[in-house]
Amino acid sequence: MKLTEEQLANLEEGIRFDINYGERRDITKEIRIFLIETTNYCNFNCCFCPYEKMKRKKGTMDFKLFKKIIDEIKEWNIEDLSLTGIGEPLLDPKITEKVKYAREKMPKECIIEFNTNASLLTKEKFISLIEAGLDELRISAFTTNYENYKKIHGFNNFNKVKDNIKNLKEIKKSLGVKNPIISMGFFNFPESQETRNDWFRYWQPYMDKEDSWEAHNFSDGKNYKQVPKGKRFSCGRPFIMGDILWNGDVCICCADYEGKAVYGNVRNKSVKEIMLSLPYQSMLKIHKERKFELLPICDNCDQLIPNNLRNKITIKRIPYKIRHQILKILKWKHS
Ligand code: SF4
Repeated sequence: MKLTEEQLANLEEGIRFDINYGERRDITKEIRIFLIETTNYCNFNCCFCPYEKMKRKKGTMDFKLFKKIIDEIKEWNIEDLSLTGIGEPLLDPKITEKVKYAREKMPKECIIEFNTNASLLTKEKFISLIEAGLDELRISAFTTNYENYKKIHGFNNFNKVKDNIKNLKEIKKSLGVKNPIISMGFFNFPESQETRNDWFRYWQPYMDKEDSWEAHNFSDGKNYKQVPKGKRFSCGRPFIMGDILWNGDVCICCADYEGKAVYGNVRNKSVKEIMLSLPYQSMLKIHKERKFELLPICDNCDQLIPNNLRNKITIKRIPYKIRHQILKILKWKHS
């Protein structure tokens, strides 16, 4: 609750008054993406990730807490449930059971997925995830060669990871299943020294879908992009995304790797209760009114939308997935 108190103390009178006496926004009806960090342990040390810098306690979410969260959010209109935070989900001994539980309880339209570095992805593990009902597996392998792999991912096992990845489509074919979709992405960051086209040609035979992104700062975790100045608009995440850390803390978003902006813990409150609370509602209002100076973590974030990008398109009524893609393309071009 660190930021909460600081934030409350700094809140402008108008915002506090509105939220105390006005109607609270039931954001649970709007959230479409939900992130549950099942673990924040990682066996890699990738150059684009703030893992090494992270000081918060490391751990793995217990199954009871995971079930509580799923049981509370299963009726929301969530389209994408990611079991990823800062960490490698395959280090969670209960990841298969968690996928299975989520798949059973969430609506069938909701995609259950997680990101992985694939270093622990044995054939047996992959088959157990297929049986559990995983919809999409997002694999991070941002290079095509042994030398770069160590530099980028901090671990010298390119050949093993490639072996783990290259048979996934074959395994699915032999079992006659379409899921999980194997998606891989290219990161456009200085350390890669490779073009997206070379990367794509190399990995394309082993993936079903490309999901490229660009390196970002994780708030103050890295320094890849300039923080926009002047008139800025919300990144949009607080209005479509919920994020819970392994210990049950409800935080602002996935950029908050250190868990600084925490609004409550789901061990002693419901997710909805926390999202309707004054601190959470204040955060939403700050984003709506673009008073980012009241919220330091966002004020210093490269994901705010600069005025020149925002004016290019009217995005209000476009579904979030398409909106997300459009903003990605625009930001890519302007980075
Ligand atoms: S501005 Fe940055 S820290 Fe704030 S909600 Fe958006 S992505 Fe998260």
